[in-house]
Amino acid sequence: MTPAVPAGRARQASELPALGIDIGGTKVAGGVVAPDGTVLDTARRATPGSSVAETEDAVADVVEELAARHGGPLVGVGVGAAGWFDRTGDTVLFSPHLAWRNSSLRKDLEARLQRPLWVGNDADAAAWAEYRYGAARGADLALMITLGTGIGGGIVMDGRLQRGAHGVAGEWGHMRVVPGGRLCACGNRGCWEQYASGTALGQTAREVALTSPAAAATLLERVDCRPELLTGEHVATAAAGGDPLALELVTEVGTWLGQGIADLSAVLDPGVVVIGGGVGVLGEMVLGPARDRLTHALPGRGFRPGPRVVAAELGPQAGLVGAADLVRRAVAGNGDTVVRTDDTAAGCRPPSC
Ligand SMILES: [Zn+2]
Repeated sequence: MTPAVPAGRARQASELPALGIDIGGTKVAGGVVAPDGTVLDTARRATPGSSVAETEDAVADVVEELAARHGGPLVGVGVGAAGWFDRTGDTVLFSPHLAWRNSSLRKDLEARLQRPLWVGNDADAAAWAEYRYGAARGADLALMITLGTGIGGGIVMDGRLQRGAHGVAGEWGHMRVVPGGRLCACGNRGCWEQYASGTALGQTAREVALTSPAAAATLLERVDCRPELLTGEHVATAAAGGDPLALELVTEVGTWLGQGIADLSAVLDPGVVVIGGGVGVLGEMVLGPARDRLTHALPGRGFRPGPRVVAAELGPQAGLVGAADLVRRAVAGNGDTVVRTDDTAAGCRPPSC
């Protein structure tokens, strides 16, 4: 339950910039974000993935640097991180690429930063940003799917971020799509993210290069003929340059993406599915095959509408923009209130103002 906040304070909070922080596997990125979603300033630090304390140091450094340069009042700090959180955001249960295991991130950051905080999953924050300012504006039920090293996700329904009963909703990267398939960092085999992500692109490219080096000749030129060095980034760059094998691999990822969206549509019936993340940057190369597959795999096709599948609009800053807005709304006592499209246009004024 969100405690009541005096109307004056709510109005003030909704009109102030907030700090947004995005903690990823390789970096902590931060920004000062205006109520209309504009990023006014940014800062970043490398993430020492093996140390919780050093990661929190990096967050504190970014916050101090941005706050010092900004000079004026800030409503609080929103932190989106690549991890599984409990519903309250108090505890990071698990992070595949960082050191957190049942870590009290919120308490630690509260003690260090002494500022109002929103803490949660980075893809949830990105989903919220796309709903508030980007490709999912005004949608009744929007899903965000981030295709990066793995697959992240977020759900916004009826103007609320849906974090699930235990905080880990939207982790559909770990739906099993291939029984006995590729091993995943979560401990299972055959997870969706092993077939539709940057990691999947790299893995498939390495498999092809080992079994058919001739077919992969132009890809192998990028890594001095050492197939084990091929990554999803190499494939993405080659695909953008028109390399036929790379395009085929990207199409395969898009097809897996479309199949997953069809399956999610059976559960959630979204109106719009926003595709972001590093692989999402390939745009229609991925989205085209995804839509094709969705058309052929949507349960009840021909008798029901399916979701629109669109590219994210906010780019790599979506996570920090969303986290900043979520702390702003939390301070304004508006964390659970429907945001209408005209609220967005008016600059995030909650109905209670
Ligand atoms: Zn998994």
